[in-house]
Amino acid sequence: MIVYEKKYDVIVVGAGHAGCEAALSAARIGVSTLLLTINLDAIALMSCNPAIGGLAKGHLVKEIDALGGEMGRNIDATGIQFRVLNTRKGPAVRASRAQADKQQYRLRMKTVLEQQDNLDLKQVEVTALHLDGGAVAGVDTRGGVRFLGKTVILTTGTFMRGLIHIGLVHYPGGRAGDLPSVGLSERLVDYGFDVGRLKTGTPARLDSRTIDFNKLEPQFGDERPVPFSFSTEKIEQPQVPCHIAYTNEKSHEIIRGGLDRSPLYAGIIEGIGPRYCPSIEDKVVRFPEKERHQTFIEPEGRDTVEVYPSGMSTSLPIDIQWAFYRSIEGLERVEIMRPAYAIEYDYVNPIQLHASLETKLVPNLYHAGQINGTSGYEEAAAQGLMAGINAALQVKGKEPLVLGRHEAYIGVMIDDLVTLGTKEPYRMFTSRAEYRLLLREDNADLRLREKGHEVGLVPEETYNGFLVKKECIENELVKLSRERLTPSAAGEELLAEWDLVGMQNAISYEQLLRRPEFTCEDLSRIYPEIMELPEAVREQLGIQIKYQGYINRQLEQVDRAVKLESAKIPADMDYLSIPGLSTEVREKLDRFRPDTLGQASRIPGITPAGITILSIALKARG
Ligand code: FAD
Repeated sequence: MIVYEKKYDVIVVGAGHAGCEAALSAARIGVSTLLLTINLDAIALMSCNPAIGGLAKGHLVKEIDALGGEMGRNIDATGIQFRVLNTRKGPAVRASRAQADKQQYRLRMKTVLEQQDNLDLKQVEVTALHLDGGAVAGVDTRGGVRFLGKTVILTTGTFMRGLIHIGLVHYPGGRAGDLPSVGLSERLVDYGFDVGRLKTGTPARLDSRTIDFNKLEPQFGDERPVPFSFSTEKIEQPQVPCHIAYTNEKSHEIIRGGLDRSPLYAGIIEGIGPRYCPSIEDKVVRFPEKERHQTFIEPEGRDTVEVYPSGMSTSLPIDIQWAFYRSIEGLERVEIMRPAYAIEYDYVNPIQLHASLETKLVPNLYHAGQINGTSGYEEAAAQGLMAGINAALQVKGKEPLVLGRHEAYIGVMIDDLVTLGTKEPYRMFTSRAEYRLLLREDNADLRLREKGHEVGLVPEETYNGFLVKKECIENELVKLSRERLTPSAAGEELLAEWDLVGMQNAISYEQLLRRPEFTCEDLSRIYPEIMELPEAVREQLGIQIKYQGYINRQLEQVDRAVKLESAKIPADMDYLSIPGLSTEVREKLDRFRPDTLGQASRIPGITPAGITILSIALKARG
């Protein structure tokens, strides 16, 4: 091996969504960083859906942005259709989503990486880790070069021993058009990692020139597109529509006719697929009573004719794909430009990670993204950001940043992964968060900007802008609780309009705003200055006042949980000799080796009584 002359603080392997955030966060914190990837032209490539955000995923993007990550700004600059989902539901489940111009998204991210200080990019395949005294000290590459680094972050996505399936044809690949990563996962097994197999799939990419859009229903973005990033003022670029189409009974018949050549149903695919993102053949088999399945035909960009039929992923043979896509109304003449396929790949059980994303087996080695068994760009990016932050903090000799379940969806996801592990692709859902009302998209900056600034990711100017907003909200909340409307000042007409006839005492502006349908616009009738406040401030006032009761209740629950979370368990805890615990509980604790009492309490099968005994044993240890 030729040893490269420059030594790095952080080496990131892979430039997918996890790798980009990991490299940027480490470099921005100020440590020397190297990003190695198989193909520099495929940086931040969207392997599947050309879209960012969606339910719970939008929350992750906002949190990444609040902490100082890039994903939000990247989609704001390259998005072609923006929508806020669930606008009629409560603020906790509202979610932003945007279609991306896939190539622009990739190119902009590459430019951002190239312009980042402290960051070098190189195209190589990493084949092994270089260990020194049991800890990682660098990586070895296929070209025979060894790069030395104090920490290494693996973000290999779907590439480790990637195997592509189209019908009964299968061949190695990291994703269509890309080479797989060979050798690395075998080395990880040698070091004792529990490496498993997962699978995912993607639809065909279709030629929009061969689609009759007159037969399809258009779907437009929001009239006033809302940016993802707290730093983006406005989305300037024009938006493009998507179109809705449906499968029919004929499509389902064609699919059923091809099942004998489906790698999934023929038992060739071993890996477990994403339960919540089933292939079209899975949907047809599992829901035989359904007469049709919907698909959104989503453009892949402004300068391409390729479109993506969402929800239509399949690993059926190509002749079945031709017939099935053409059976859809409006797609009778459709040409497939890239076939649909499934991919199997290696992942590493995330139970072998600390909450910092450092592995328990090899010090200074971090894992982030799909390698941890997750699925999705946003899940990957969020982990990448945290791994990059924590590797950089480790180099600087500082404590890791670990977000609690009450602080961020990122905290929920990482805690789920490292506490429970996963046997199937893990994606984020709002239902995974127990403190949903606290973890809204709209307050991600209020929850996390401070932390992003503390670790050195949020620049001073951005942070100062945030402080102004925060102070404005706090001052205004005080003002609204003090200012009052008296019956005499209101006048008969307003009292009647606001359903306050007979009101005896003055009512505070806060009380008025607490009423379900009452808005800041309504309040401006008696307090016009409120409309001069920035929209984001008014939004916070409305939400914080209306939901205060529920928010306070969740905060009380958080208080109780935080106590358990702060009780750390030493890494060498001897669970097997704790008296009073059942053998099953002892063995489980020994296998999972939780970092805190809180984590221990979330392991399935660990009872509250077991936690009490464990906390007594901890106290006895001193
Ligand atoms: P990736 O984006 O896969 O990036 C990995 C990077 O690591 C690549 O740049 C690669 O070149 C590099 N790399 C790998 N090994 C090495 C090595 N040894 N040396 C150097 N570089 C290396 N997600 C969903 O949410 N829903 C879906 O339906 C869905 N379907 C998918 C279908 C397919 C066919 C594929 C391929 C992916 C699909 N995904 C889906 C997953 C989505 O693409 C990933 O979740 C996301 O891209 C993961 O990001 P990542 O950064 O972890 O990995």
